Amino acid sequence: MADSNANPASHSKFRSGSGPQHLDLSSDAAMRKDATAASRASRPFLGVMFRCCNLYARLYRLDDLTAYSGRCPRCGKRLRVPIGSGGTGQRFFETNS
Ligand SMILES: [Zn+2]
Repeated sequence: MADSNANPASHSKFRSGSGPQHLDLSSDAAMRKDATAASRASRPFLGVMFRCCNLYARLYRLDDLTAYSGRCPRCGKRLRVPIGSGGTGQRFFETNS
């Protein structure tokens, strides 16, 4: 008769790292960036293809963050792309005309 019940290893609970794990989240280096300088250095923009003249131009974000705005470099047609609250993530636009 073979005793196949004897497997004491499977019943031993092995817990490593007992006690509360303490994470040190006191790194505040990210908070110390000069926000004003950074926002001026890299102003967000959208790339837009102006179909009227087949020219590519950039729409720069307005200071009030409500839209991207710019003009066709050739004919001066104005274009304004509102910044939606949903945030499509679309970074490239084309005009229809
Ligand atoms: Zn144009």
